[in-house]
Amino acid sequence: MYVYNTLGRKLEHFSPASPPFVGMYTCGPTPYDYTHIGHARTFASFDAIKRYLNLRGYSVYHVQNITDIDDKIINRAKEEGRDWREVAEEYTKDYMEMLRALSIRIDVHPRVTDHIAEIVEFVKGLIEKGHAYVAESGSVYFDVDSFPDYGRLSGALNKEAWRQEEHVKEKKNPYDFALWKAAKPGEPSWESPWGRGRPGWHIECSVMSSKYLGSRIDIHGGGVDLVFPHHENERAQSEAYFGSRPWVRYWMHVSYLTISGEKMSKSLGNIIPFREAAKRWGPRVLRLWLLSSHYRSNLDYSESGLEQASRLYQRLRDVAERLQRRLATREPSHYLKEGDMRLLQMLRAAHGAWHESMSNDFNFGAAMSSVWELTNLYYRELEASESQAVLLYAYKMLEEFNRVYAVLDDIMLGEGSARLETELINLLVEVRSELRARKIYDLSDAIRERLQRVGIRLLDYKDKTEWVRE
Ligand SMILES: [Zn+2]
Repeated sequence: MYVYNTLGRKLEHFSPASPPFVGMYTCGPTPYDYTHIGHARTFASFDAIKRYLNLRGYSVYHVQNITDIDDKIINRAKEEGRDWREVAEEYTKDYMEMLRALSIRIDVHPRVTDHIAEIVEFVKGLIEKGHAYVAESGSVYFDVDSFPDYGRLSGALNKEAWRQEEHVKEKKNPYDFALWKAAKPGEPSWESPWGRGRPGWHIECSVMSSKYLGSRIDIHGGGVDLVFPHHENERAQSEAYFGSRPWVRYWMHVSYLTISGEKMSKSLGNIIPFREAAKRWGPRVLRLWLLSSHYRSNLDYSESGLEQASRLYQRLRDVAERLQRRLATREPSHYLKEGDMRLLQMLRAAHGAWHESMSNDFNFGAAMSSVWELTNLYYRELEASESQAVLLYAYKMLEEFNRVYAVLDDIMLGEGSARLETELINLLVEVRSELRARKIYDLSDAIRERLQRVGIRLLDYKDKTEWVRE
């Protein structure tokens, strides 16, 4: 497998430090506003990357932080006259709902405010090692000049390009960045050896990633907008602190989601919240669409793109259900008829192409064409095929694809049919109660008997009936 490493800007053979384990850390949200579809793209991409690695036999442990204290949260709280915790909580909930809707699974979700003590320790260590200094205000800054490799991740080797967000005079150099920010009146703060304050943005990821994954990480990722300064700074402070290199084996970055070719931004007023897009298209169609082009290319939001994803989604469901029905109602036949071998080869070619695309730096776009190819093959050739082997191969392929796309879980993992079954039993029980109320006992007894025969026992109480599986 090959992975594109932002550090070095080339494809590299994927080889984690302790296979089959893969430690993956991705930068999560700052919950000060609704999650938009650009965030959703980044998170869905890493979820698909993780799922594919799992499919290939790796065991991925995925940590994604929540920046629940930050300037943006404090400002929002001030604007709205609310408590900053309430703001963080509200939008964390929105983010969690997005993860659920998109079937994104994260193993650990550390929050900054639960890790203040560890952050203070890390900053202390950086000061002791001569990589950070305490300024007059009580803020602590990373001394960028103490880390000669600075700038290599983002490719910004010119000091002019290193200017950081904090424009304060007390820094030694304009490109030094805050590890700890001295408290301002009325702002949330915690005790530290340098007085009350709060962590800078970048330090949390070095601290929380090493707490849960150790001092070496296989994959560290995020949106491409995080390369500078966030990841550049994370790398500098972590490698300086641990004194080892590389801290991260593969830096991976998901490109922008654009709207009619433009970047989403507050000033352009073109931000699409995830919840709105999900209401319109449904989360599964959105997930399929978010995974329809290479994660390193921009993805443009367009009606036609979403409509196409919607068509593919309908096809996938249709093909999965048809295959399920045909496989369930057919006696297994062990003969391959003339033409079956050719069909198997065509399926195999699409299957192989899908793996090849995914193994080549997770080329979602190319992989998606193999998914289309499978549905095309079904309607064009497989619908008429009688061969159990051919149908089974197609079904297994679909199952494998779904381990990454996760849009057919209700059909393929049986969630949908289990729900339907429960509803149908409830319906029968209600009808039977109505029959009993009308004293139509022969029919109500017949229902009880039939249900008993399929393993559902009815328990009649004074004013209700319950049922149990036997
Ligand atoms: Zn981060």
